[in-house]
Amino acid sequence: MNRSDQADSLGGRLREIVTTALHARGGPLTSDLVQRPAEFGLGHLPVRLLPDATARSVCGFCSTGCSLDVHLRDGHAVNVTPSAGYPVNDGMACPKGWEALAPLAAADRATTPYLRGSDGTLAATDWSTALDTFCTRMKDIRRRYGPDSLAFLSTGQIATEEMALLGAVAKFGMGFRHGDGNTRQCMATSVVAYKESFGFDAPPFTYADFEESDAIVLVGANPCIAHPILWQRIRRNRRGAEVVVVDPRRTETAAAADRHYALRPRSDLVLLYGVARELLVRGWTDDAYIAAHTEGFEGFATHVDAFTPEVVERSCGIDRAALQQLAEIVGCRERVSLWWTMGVNQGHEAVRTAQAIVNLALMTGNIGRPGTGANSITGQANAMGSRLFSNTTSLLGGRDFADAAHRREVADILGIDAATIPTDAGWSYDRIVDGIRDGRVKGLWVLATNPGHSWIDRQRFDAEVLSRLEFLVVQDLYATTETAARADLVLPAAGAGEKDGTVINSERRIGRLRKLSRAPGEALADFWIVKLLAERWGCGAQFERWSSPEAVFAILRELSAGRPCDFSGIEGYDALDREGGIQWPYPAPASGSSGNESSGNESPADRAPESEIDTSRERRLFADGRFFRAGGRALFCYEAPRPNPEPVDADYPLVLLTGRGSSAQWHTNTRTAKSAVLRKLYPSDAYVELSAGDAEAAGVAEGDRVRVASRRAAMTVRARVSDTVAAGQVFMPMHYGETNRLTLAVFDPYSRQPSYKSCAVRIAPEQGRRRSARTSDGVRVAASQETQ
Ligand code: SF4
Repeated sequence: MNRSDQADSLGGRLREIVTTALHARGGPLTSDLVQRPAEFGLGHLPVRLLPDATARSVCGFCSTGCSLDVHLRDGHAVNVTPSAGYPVNDGMACPKGWEALAPLAAADRATTPYLRGSDGTLAATDWSTALDTFCTRMKDIRRRYGPDSLAFLSTGQIATEEMALLGAVAKFGMGFRHGDGNTRQCMATSVVAYKESFGFDAPPFTYADFEESDAIVLVGANPCIAHPILWQRIRRNRRGAEVVVVDPRRTETAAAADRHYALRPRSDLVLLYGVARELLVRGWTDDAYIAAHTEGFEGFATHVDAFTPEVVERSCGIDRAALQQLAEIVGCRERVSLWWTMGVNQGHEAVRTAQAIVNLALMTGNIGRPGTGANSITGQANAMGSRLFSNTTSLLGGRDFADAAHRREVADILGIDAATIPTDAGWSYDRIVDGIRDGRVKGLWVLATNPGHSWIDRQRFDAEVLSRLEFLVVQDLYATTETAARADLVLPAAGAGEKDGTVINSERRIGRLRKLSRAPGEALADFWIVKLLAERWGCGAQFERWSSPEAVFAILRELSAGRPCDFSGIEGYDALDREGGIQWPYPAPASGSSGNESSGNESPADRAPESEIDTSRERRLFADGRFFRAGGRALFCYEAPRPNPEPVDADYPLVLLTGRGSSAQWHTNTRTAKSAVLRKLYPSDAYVELSAGDAEAAGVAEGDRVRVASRRAAMTVRARVSDTVAAGQVFMPMHYGETNRLTLAVFDPYSRQPSYKSCAVRIAPEQGRRRSARTSDGVRVAASQETQ
């Protein structure tokens, strides 16, 4: 090309650029960018997003239970804004809430059932074939292998009405012996802790307690990331509350708190017992409250005497001054609220740790008053609904399968034969997994959860569990999850926003899910899928009354009547809409229940919570100091700490901590990965955070690819050198598939909740990339390479 040709070419390109800029063929039109006043108090919006109606529905991600105003245009959901005035979030939402519609619009939504063919691939099929296949194969498995061979895994992600129908149909109609939920992975510990200590699974608080405390003690909780709206509630505290974080990691919350006690991983039980001892030694206990409302205190006081400041410092790395400071905060502030989440629940001695927090509240009288409480924050949007009504660990309404009177009550309310109700709860999640592994469970029905990613030690789960099933059914929004990809049958389900029902949030508030748009293709609400399966199975007549979500809500009200979770006073969905959600207990006036009063001898199951309906928007439990145990007293529960199941050693010298990585990700990222907005808010690659000292010792630098190895597996991830983890500890977010290949499958002995939070690992540069490393005496050497 000569000089003149080059000039022509350059001129041509310039003309093209100018023409493209002036006459853009792509991108938004100017009219798309113009904003016009919107009605419904929404300010100004682009013309294409102007709604012709709005409707409220609770967010379907986390247990905070924020309300969202969904903007509708021509009957389609086009946008959301957080609901102003709703008592939970009052106009606030985290990134997941703002992007609540994106997962529903994902291109890989399952729009038809899928059946695995003889060639091994999943192929679209029709509903009739899918229903027939489910019933024929499940029945065939039960006929060949017996009643233990069928199990289901429910979830905290669907409506209460749906999980109640599922649990009732599966156990009373189809004869599934075993069923559990993914709430085993997050809340089982709190359930057991509360039941033993209070007599019922009853988180006592309201969110207003964040705003009314003088001291807020967060143990193993990172609300900045896990529950961002609750962190906003903490920031609204007007009493100048001291915010205290007890966590091995300098989390976002710890960094923002007034005090951070960075204890060693898995030493929280020793620290909490040490605080209790300090309270006793210094006389910072509420003796009148202990005498009037508790039992077991003397034994507890003797037990904690061994947890001296020296023991605490040795075990936890918390020195005497810090211990005394923490005890002084708990013992001397007028209103102290203690909160915990997964840092406590997901441990090898989790129930006793949660109860050690409960004990601190009891011994200082910090319960039943504004700004106080021993408060477990749940995880999933409907974990609380699952705890009461999934019919898995507890019989409907928080009852006991082993109690004949409870079975009779449920049978009478439902109009079914009491003999169809099992006399025990069946196996917990981990025992179902064991049952699959050893060949006793052959058919598994999984709803709205993704154990192929989330179950602890998933490498083994993939290889030894999913592959051993004869028939795996997955009911989900997508046929693309790790678990659905292994399924024999996929049933396409609707998501939050595409179906009606209710959820119960962390503060026991029952909120409304509303169907605002149609699920795509042939996808159906879980409610209707279970109804269709019941009909095809031949047990549909047994559930005739369960004719719609609202009809089931009426049944649930009946099942709750007279129970501590009584919400028989809620007239129906309209009442929930009117009130902005209603917290249980909310008994019907006619129930004549005796409130939090107790004759002293009745079972907690026989005692309703309140005599008159309290219509205030924020209500807490135990204001009268009467608990749900027989006798009305709370119990001090305690036990000697257990050794860490996998301490570090020379081969695996680092403790792996796991947790939530960002507020834009949710659990296995099944839904949050569908949002282009959310994807920009977190790193696309799995990563490990490690301290500068450990990075240097391993010969790795920020951004390097590194091998993280445990005794189970080895993964290559990105290194993030950070001051959020102490020397000897590393952190990996749970949202990436790599993390649970490393974790160790141990469980709390009482709750059977997996201990995700600590196992031993080592880190080395990725194979083939040597860097120099510094030994403890400062000599630089070539780093050893990970070969596993
Ligand atoms: Fe609120 Fe949780 Fe939804 Fe975020 S994910 S908007 S905090 S309910």
